[in-house]
Amino acid sequence: MIKFLDLAAVNACYRPMIDESIKRVLDSGWYLLGVECEAFEREFAAYCGVKHCIGVANGLDALNLIINAYGFSRGDEVIVPANTYIASILAISQNGCIPVLVEPDIQTYNINPDLIESRITSRTKAIMVVHLYGQAVKMEKIWELARKYGLKVIEDAAQAHGACYQGKRTGNLGDAAGFSFYPGKNLGCLGDGGAVTTNDDALADKLRALRNYGSHKKYCNLYKGVNSRLDEIQAALLRVKLEGLDRDNERRRAIARLYREHIRHPRIVLPELLSEESHVWHLFVVCCSERDRLQQYLIEHNIQTLIHYPTPPHQQPAYKEWNHLSLPVTEKIHREVLSLPISPVLTDLEVGTIVRVLAHF
Ligand SMILES: *Cc1c(COP(=O)(O)O)cnc(C)c1O
Repeated sequence: MIKFLDLAAVNACYRPMIDESIKRVLDSGWYLLGVECEAFEREFAAYCGVKHCIGVANGLDALNLIINAYGFSRGDEVIVPANTYIASILAISQNGCIPVLVEPDIQTYNINPDLIESRITSRTKAIMVVHLYGQAVKMEKIWELARKYGLKVIEDAAQAHGACYQGKRTGNLGDAAGFSFYPGKNLGCLGDGGAVTTNDDALADKLRALRNYGSHKKYCNLYKGVNSRLDEIQAALLRVKLEGLDRDNERRRAIARLYREHIRHPRIVLPELLSEESHVWHLFVVCCSERDRLQQYLIEHNIQTLIHYPTPPHQQPAYKEWNHLSLPVTEKIHREVLSLPISPVLTDLEVGTIVRVLAHF
């Protein structure tokens, strides 16, 4: 069986260094907001090319705390792509704001910049871009709109650690970015973890308090904060894995090149690539009008695939108020996408097998 993602194998590549980092934390006797979290924050900020990184408990909290820190009011609107993982949208509605769903571009799966301006109102406060599947959003138009209307640009970079647009990494393409280090992400820990990156000194300062009960100083609570911290063990092993991130992303790119060169099938649509540097291939997503049959066929040939995602947010029971909406591009994507295996440990031989099996579909 070719697994969709063999996480044990991914982490085995780092095993001796992970063991060492866990032992270091265990022996230190200090498990939260200590030297490892500080060091990781410094290193990840440098990697993204920004001034600040604030470690938090997970990716949803990272996005949630950004919106909380900006202090948007109930009823304020945030523009967000309609085809994203539910977390992007939850972060907006959990703060009492209104997510304004915008259709994606069918080629890149990312928000269609041409559809944003007509959705901007006097209540609009921010545009949240999602670098979906690992490809950085084309930011030019979005920066232009943000300048013109005085909006914040928030990046959901949970799937795109290391992807670049015009030579700048994700995390440095807006006013603030949320990252997730969920185990399956390109930079993943052994549990939950997340971070915010920003160049905004005041925002960073507020976030450092918000993640820790709203306090900079013990028992002095400036804000009604939350408990959302990146623990020392996760931070220590993320430092180890950050060292290998570029190499791991290069391997993903090599696999994507093989897929793109060798999959030639009239009914399988390959993903569009803006540039080599723009994509870190968190997922390799193809489109097929007979998607379910294709997935079944692949599993019969011992190839595991997943669907990201089977139901769009506006059709979820949690968002009943949107169930009547018609978003044809989003719906088509959700009906047709299939994610092929891709990871730093997938071998050329396995890629070859997948390509060969696909040719006979
Ligand atoms: C994984 C993910 C998140 C949420 O991250 P968690 O760490 O699981 O909370 C948010 N947005 C996108 C696009 C994601 O893929």
